[in-house]
Amino acid sequence: AGKKAMSILPNLPPLPTMKEVMSVQKISALKRLSQNFLMDLNLTNKIVRHAKFVKGAHVCEVGPGPGGITRSILNKQPASFYVIEKDKRFLPGLELLSEASNGKMKIFLGDILRFDMSKLFPDDLKHDWLDIPPMIHIIGNLPFSVATPLIIQWLQEIQEHKGAWSYGRSRLTLTFQLEVAQRMVAEPESLMRSRLSIMCQYLCHVNHVFTIPGKAFTPAPDVDVGVVTFVPRKEPLIGQPFKLVEKVVRCMFQHRQKLIKWGFEMLVPFDRPDLVDRFFKLSGIGEDSRPMELTIDEFKSICCIYEELCNEIPGLFEYDARSREVSEAKKQWRTAKRDGEDVFLGT
Ligand code: SAM
Repeated sequence: AGKKAMSILPNLPPLPTMKEVMSVQKISALKRLSQNFLMDLNLTNKIVRHAKFVKGAHVCEVGPGPGGITRSILNKQPASFYVIEKDKRFLPGLELLSEASNGKMKIFLGDILRFDMSKLFPDDLKHDWLDIPPMIHIIGNLPFSVATPLIIQWLQEIQEHKGAWSYGRSRLTLTFQLEVAQRMVAEPESLMRSRLSIMCQYLCHVNHVFTIPGKAFTPAPDVDVGVVTFVPRKEPLIGQPFKLVEKVVRCMFQHRQKLIKWGFEMLVPFDRPDLVDRFFKLSGIGEDSRPMELTIDEFKSICCIYEELCNEIPGLFEYDARSREVSEAKKQWRTAKRDGEDVFLGT
C-alpha cells in the first residue's frame, strides 16, 4: 500500500497513500471549511521546493488536512515540524505521519486565527531583526476565506515583531486564490494594484512563485491558485504604525479607479475640504492620479501627512466616513448648505 508514497518520498518509511487514509477514515471535503485537497505529491513537492529553506529548518504547516504538503515537508527533513489543523477528522492520518517522523512532527488541533506562535519554536532560534532570517518557515494551503484575514493578521505581527516574528524575519509560503496572489505582487499602474499590494509590499519582499490549476485540487475550486512567498523586509517601506497604514490604504482604495481626491475625502471630515487640499499640496501628487497608480513612496507620504493631521485634530483617526452617524450628519449638512444656512458641525 505504501509503494506509491515510497517512490516519491524516499526519506519516509512506507505509508498508506492519502487516498487510502481518507477512505479508511471515510473523510470527504467539507464545504463549510472550504476544503480543497492537493493529492498530487509532484505538486506538493513543487510547493516545498519553491519554498526553499525547509531542510534543517523549524517548520509550521497550517491546515495540513490529509497531509500532502505535510509529506513533502517531512521528506525534506526539517529539524522540527508543527502542524495546526482545525478539523479533527484528519488526526489519525496526521498521527501516522507524526509516528513516521520519529517524534519530529507535533500536531495541534485548533484554529490558526487564534494560535500564538510566539513560543512555538526553540528560544535559541531568536535572531536580531536585521540579521539573516531565522531557520523558521511557515507553509500552508489554507481555505481562501482564512488565508486573506490571516495574512493581514500576520503582516501586523511582522511589523510589530510578534508571534513567529518575535524570532526574527521568519519566511512564509502560502497559497491564495490566483487573483489575490496577483494583487499581492501588483506594481503601480497594474489593474490588479489594490489594498493588498501595498500592505504586503511595504512590509515584505513578496513573490508569486507559480500557479496551480484549480483542477489539480479535489474537489476542484472554480479558480486557479497562486503560491506566494514572503520574506519580511529589514525596514518597512512605510514607517507608520500598522493600523494607521491600514486605514489610509483602505480609504484610498475605497474608490480604486476614481481620482485620489475620493480617497482623501474618506480620511477627513466632509466639512473640511481644506484638509483634502493639504494632502495634495504637501504630497505633491497630481490631482489626476488614481490610487492604483500610486507608488509605495507616495503612500508613505500620504501616511505621514495623515499622521500629522491626526496629531493636530483630536478624534480624526476614529473618524469613519462610512459610519451611519457621518452619513446622517453629511445629509443634514448638504441640506443646510443648499438652503443657504451657515452650518458648522464641529468636526
Ligand atoms: N493542506 C491540505 C492540502 O493541501 O491538501 C489541505 C488544504 S485545505 C484547502 C485547508 C485545510 O485547512 C483543511 O484541512 C482545513 O480543515 C484546514 N483549516 C481550515 N480552516 C482552518 C483554521 N482556521 N485553522 C486551521 N486549519 C484550518
